[in-house]
Amino acid sequence: MTEDKKYIINPNYCIRGDDNRVLITTKYKYPELERYGAITFSNNFFSFWHPYFAAMISFFTGEFILDEQLQKMENYLGIERETIKQIIKPFFENKEILSKKEGEAIVFVPENLIIEYCNNFPVRKQNLEEFVFTDIDLTTARLNRPLDCTLMLNTKCVTNCVYCYADRQNINAELPINKIKKLITEAKQIGMNNFDVLGGELFLYSEWKELLKVLIENGYHPYISTKVPVSKRDIAYMKSIGLRYIQISLDSVNSSILQQMLNVKDSYYGKIKETIENLNEAGIDIIIHAILTSLNSKKESVINLLDYLSDIEYIIKINLTPVAYTRFKDRKNFEQLCCTDDDIKLVNQTINNYRQKYNKDYIVGNLEKYEDVQFSNKTTEKFNKRGFCTGNTRYFYILPDGKVTFCEQMYWSSKFIIGDITNMSIMEFWNSDFAKNFNKNKQKAMTQDSKCFDCRDFEKCHFEKGVCWKMIIESYGDKNWDFPDPRCPKAPQVLLIS
Ligand code: SF4
Ligand code: SF4
Repeated sequence: MTEDKKYIINPNYCIRGDDNRVLITTKYKYPELERYGAITFSNNFFSFWHPYFAAMISFFTGEFILDEQLQKMENYLGIERETIKQIIKPFFENKEILSKKEGEAIVFVPENLIIEYCNNFPVRKQNLEEFVFTDIDLTTARLNRPLDCTLMLNTKCVTNCVYCYADRQNINAELPINKIKKLITEAKQIGMNNFDVLGGELFLYSEWKELLKVLIENGYHPYISTKVPVSKRDIAYMKSIGLRYIQISLDSVNSSILQQMLNVKDSYYGKIKETIENLNEAGIDIIIHAILTSLNSKKESVINLLDYLSDIEYIIKINLTPVAYTRFKDRKNFEQLCCTDDDIKLVNQTINNYRQKYNKDYIVGNLEKYEDVQFSNKTTEKFNKRGFCTGNTRYFYILPDGKVTFCEQMYWSSKFIIGDITNMSIMEFWNSDFAKNFNKNKQKAMTQDSKCFDCRDFEKCHFEKGVCWKMIIESYGDKNWDFPDPRCPKAPQVLLIS
């Protein structure tokens, strides 16, 4: 902390007002590696902040040297310079996440919050008016304005994968580009952090070029995932509009395995391989996602895949995921596709060897069988460590016909449809009584068959971290939507309905 140097809030964080509190969250799914890659930051971070603290931190825009910043802060906050310095000092290049009790709440500060300014960083805009309010709420989990969303563009595919988890009804539904553009404009206005697009297939949406351009122009860097072989020309277009990364699904480098898994022709492997190589040449970061099934989880198959990918410079991540159960396929199909215990053991060993050989974060995957991870050895302690459910609290998911639901893979499950984007704005459905009071109403609407019905922990369970609605309907079926989260020790045995 030197008074003649410029400082800035780490560009990997987004700080936003939320009507009666301020929130700070990680900005990018994948940071801009060239510009910000060397700066460490807390991934998947989220915390509420007191507006007074946010206002103080917001002075670090990168524009002025610390001496000038302190003068401005003194004038605005009416506190002496030395006191301000004492308060802000711990947040300069802090190596760990810090926490502080704020009334009933605990607020967190991510690592490396304020860092030395470097010319690569865009100067931050200071919006002090966003942080001025008195009626402060640091405990209610549901945001007043949503933070992230995903738009499922269509249900079209170029493959017909054996492990497909999708509900492919409404096959012809698609929102017009002008409607989507309006949504993007509103999302930006209300301060949403992420606007992702998903398929089916992005590249089978006729206006995909316009859509990507508008998203990027509005500051969004959508996470695209595809199985479509993309031409060199289209890759050049994506590069020219500033697309930074793309996820390509590649389950195997053996063409006959791919033919079996994806129901594609022999020529498919060559085309998708060419796509990866052309993306690499264009300098677009690539994330590879592979689903492991009984067909491609033999040690040799995984080694061949990792050997091929390890030579490609622009690959920033390889995700290996075991096949998951889906309620849209029968149970037998899932059982046939599951990897064996021996295969899982060998694949884990192989991944660890590669992690040591290359970059430790580069290959992600610690395979466990779907049911083993989720539903065995259930304890309250384990359940209490579950992740926070962002569905309808920070996040929403738009289906191709415009219906809005909590989360990916919940599809048209009627109990969870909170709006319809064809005749409502984002804020209209987000603020509707139905969406706002979903948890409270759930308790009233549930049947005595559900263990949640008279559970003493209902409020803590549902209003703090929440339950995974997706797992509930996947495990017990739509009609048992009010059942407990299957990871809860009080939950009945999972039925895995088909
Ligand atoms: S999931 Fe239901 S039964 Fe389990 S702790 Fe939560 S409210 Fe109680
Ligand atoms: S429903 Fe489940 S998967 Fe979706 S946000 Fe909630 S916890 Fe995550």
